[in-house]
Amino acid sequence: MNNNDKQELLDKRYLRITRIWAENSYCRRRQVGAIIVKDGMIISDGYNGTPSGFENVCEDADGVTKPYVLHAEANAITKVARSNNSSDGSTLYVTASPCMECSKLIIQAGIKRVVFNELYRLADGIDLLERAGIEVVHINNID
Ligand SMILES: [Zn+2]
Repeated sequence: MNNNDKQELLDKRYLRITRIWAENSYCRRRQVGAIIVKDGMIISDGYNGTPSGFENVCEDADGVTKPYVLHAEANAITKVARSNNSSDGSTLYVTASPCMECSKLIIQAGIKRVVFNELYRLADGIDLLERAGIEVVHINNID
């Protein structure tokens, strides 16, 4: 097996982990999971949800997502900020392609590679990542 095949196997495994991790989300409309991997270690994780200390409800009475809900990528990146780790040079795995806001954070966090499973409706986040020289990998079939 060559190195590209090995990398793809690993990428699929990590994406399956993000899919399982997304089950932690109490959001009803959409559950997203993310992990950050560096030097073969999972250094952070996140799923979409409200900030620490807020009630575990993502949607208002009309079913609209509250503006202060954090995306899985933002939660994973800010979790690194509270740790002794650095996201510089790491890979972010996420169940769905990052939005524009998360893509800005990904760039500033020094993440060098983004691997995702489902393509989100807007691709402007991916365009931004690629403009910043970040490798973006879309793997549709992760099973
Ligand atoms: Zn986002």
